[in-house]
Amino acid sequence: MYTCAICHFATELDDVVALTTPGHCICLRCFHRETESELPMPKPLRRQVIAALAALETATGESANW
Ligand SMILES: [Zn+2]
Repeated sequence: MYTCAICHFATELDDVVALTTPGHCICLRCFHRETESELPMPKPLRRQVIAALAALETATGESANW
């Protein structure tokens, strides 16, 4: 687990864009924000993701841990 040098959130290796100092990185969110390269999620896809997460939450009886 790394800590983002910009937002200071703990970042999974999957979301690390660049390593800076040991234990620190630039996370995907900050990279896209800083470079303005973020792609907006299409509204239908966003609705599907929210619905899928809600269904999952109902099925397991516990909230997703993120
Ligand atoms: Zn960050």
